[in-house]
Amino acid sequence: MKLHQTTAERLLNVPLSHAPRSYVNAFVRFHHPCTFSERWKAAEDAGWNVFQFPSEMLRGGDLLSDSGTTTLTLEQLSAMLLGDQAYGSNRGYFQLLKQLEETFGTHTDAWEIFLFHQGRAAEHALFSQLGSCAPHAVIPGNGHFDTTRANIEANAMEAVDFSLPELREASPHPFKGNMDLVRLGAFLSERSRDVPLVSTTITNNTGGGQPVSLANLHATRRLCDQHRIPFFLDACRFAENAWFIRTREQEYGALPIPEIVHRMFSLVDGFTISFKKDGLSNMGGALAIRKNSLLCQRFPNLLHRLRDHQILVEGHPTYGGITGRDIMVIVQGLKTVVTEEYLRSRIDQVQSFGRMLRERGIPVIEPFGGHAIYIDVDRFFEGTSLRRSDFGGISLTALLLLKGIRLCELGAFAFGKVDPNTGEDRFPPQNLVRCAIPRNTYEQQDLLSVADCIQALHERRAQLPRAVPVYGRELPLRHFKARFELLPTPSSPTFAPVPGYVS
Ligand SMILES: *Cc1c(COP(=O)(O)O)cnc(C)c1O
Repeated sequence: MKLHQTTAERLLNVPLSHAPRSYVNAFVRFHHPCTFSERWKAAEDAGWNVFQFPSEMLRGGDLLSDSGTTTLTLEQLSAMLLGDQAYGSNRGYFQLLKQLEETFGTHTDAWEIFLFHQGRAAEHALFSQLGSCAPHAVIPGNGHFDTTRANIEANAMEAVDFSLPELREASPHPFKGNMDLVRLGAFLSERSRDVPLVSTTITNNTGGGQPVSLANLHATRRLCDQHRIPFFLDACRFAENAWFIRTREQEYGALPIPEIVHRMFSLVDGFTISFKKDGLSNMGGALAIRKNSLLCQRFPNLLHRLRDHQILVEGHPTYGGITGRDIMVIVQGLKTVVTEEYLRSRIDQVQSFGRMLRERGIPVIEPFGGHAIYIDVDRFFEGTSLRRSDFGGISLTALLLLKGIRLCELGAFAFGKVDPNTGEDRFPPQNLVRCAIPRNTYEQQDLLSVADCIQALHERRAQLPRAVPVYGRELPLRHFKARFELLPTPSSPTFAPVPGYVS
């Protein structure tokens, strides 16, 4: 008698501690052999600035950014070959319009789509044109991303932040990224005439990739309706946000991801997006606006002005600064990004990396976000003589380069400033180092190795040097440009590579 299926099933019905990844490698890139001394020299040449360090010298943990760093799927690579490079109306353009409609519900009869080479160019278009129609306006948000804020402020408008107090606290709130509706409501009651639109960022990047609930999006929409104000999304991580809605917001747990995405976008009058995140692409961005929205009624020339601006700075509207090949990549990326297999492995990997760090005693921000894990630098250096003005986050990221690991300081240095009157340092509320996980790129083992290295430095935190900016301390956006020297702290009198800490 043959083995019965149910018998086999019973035999194999055992809980596994490791699930397989939902993909296999289709290409690999071997790391270049590289010695400790070679990295030491390159890091010194780079002024210990992670952005200036050659990526070829990294090994298994380039967690500088999740933006544009996605590994493409075979579907994307083959679509890329089919992309055509015509100046006008390339074939990918029509596929992209169709895909945007399928993903976001942006039917071209009802929506105007503007393509840009990346997200900030879309933000620049929106806010520069709004700024000239509505100077000195105010844009409320749940925590504007840095380029969004910069584009609002560069156009003589004000960016105001209505993030939840929980966002900056150790709180288990499942939707820490939500808009604070009480404060937004109070603000709109006084200032609604100065507000051309309200914008919610999903997930809330500035707050650590924390999600926004669908209930909060609905409530924001209602509030905007009461005050007759258009509602927009900064939608860079829309799919990750939808996953958190599915898994944390009971009411929507049974809905498929594409349906949740539709519901999210049905609530808004427009959105900006960088396809370098949840477009699973290496390039691209867009601005989409509902043609009959209040925004277009209030600023009847806005769409024309945006179109002219796009042609002026990006190119013909049918490619908008994106190559025909990259357009094809985005089309495929938008199909993959809402699948169960992709999202589960994506979010699981980030959560699992967060647990690796937590288990190793590294102070991290919780709950973990969708695309990155953030190390709390102040708590990391607790009990040592290092002060915020010693820029321990910079030292940490600098030393990790020597192990072929790259993280990004987003704290005392990146968001700090020199007071022009007193010359003293001014620090932001939070002092963080970000480990952003590129999509479809690393394996568990790579991340375990990153966690081990961070743990080694955490155990030796009292011996870590301080970072002294020797160039760029006063410059705007200084973290991209600055150079540092690493100097011994009183407790690390002779700073040298830590014993046992060799390549
Ligand atoms: C990345 C990002 C942007 C800007 O997009 P780019 O493609 O990097 O220009 C805007 N908003 C958020 C929330 C982002 O994460």
